[in-house]
Amino acid sequence: MIRWSSALNGFVELFYPRLCVGCGKKLFHDERFLCVECLSSLPLAQVHESEDNFVEQHLYGRPYIESATTLMIYGKESVPQRIIHEIKYHGAKELAKNMGRMLGRQMKGGRFSSVDVIVPVPLHPKRLKWRGYNQSEWIAKGLSEELCVPVGTDLVERVVETSTQTTKNAEERWTNVKGIFSLKQDVQPQDLTGRHLLIVDDVITTGSTLMACASAFSHVKNVKISAASLAAVN
Ligand SMILES: [Zn+2]
Repeated sequence: MIRWSSALNGFVELFYPRLCVGCGKKLFHDERFLCVECLSSLPLAQVHESEDNFVEQHLYGRPYIESATTLMIYGKESVPQRIIHEIKYHGAKELAKNMGRMLGRQMKGGRFSSVDVIVPVPLHPKRLKWRGYNQSEWIAKGLSEELCVPVGTDLVERVVETSTQTTKNAEERWTNVKGIFSLKQDVQPQDLTGRHLLIVDDVITTGSTLMACASAFSHVKNVKISAASLAAVN
């Protein structure tokens, strides 16, 4: 049985070779998504335990963010950008989960130890229907496995669909996203009192989307909010 499936895999790969998301080279059998070279040269941010790191600097102001971190530094034409693109536009859910696991392994046992629930930034229902999945939820699944903390997809929702953010400056982005998230109707703020939530997004650029999502919890007493992403602009 095993022999047949590997023979079949070999046959399939002859016509559809698996390619590295980072550089496009053909992957070896034991490689998944990224080749060894791309994997070993990822621009890792390594700021999980650093207070006042560059991710936290994106998130200053109200609501207050307890701690924030990211797996990789985001740049134009970079491997992280290609990874995010695969995750968002080419259905690479398992890649999202794998990267989430990598992030989780690095965050374990440090400043994020008191997190109770992982909250993926929700998509607007229309966008979710179009994409078929929420990429942040898949990152959260990987994180959840490593941190042994549940994913809460039933707490917050995106109530307003926004236009693309890429051409806007920080101020315009904030105006664009303020109030687009709210607690789901059946969530009672008192159920979340004193909880530590980890909001997860794929990329943090100006931080406005994440801050808008965090604002949805502003009526919850003593809630602590932290943030994590796969990549962030430095
Ligand atoms: Zn590669």
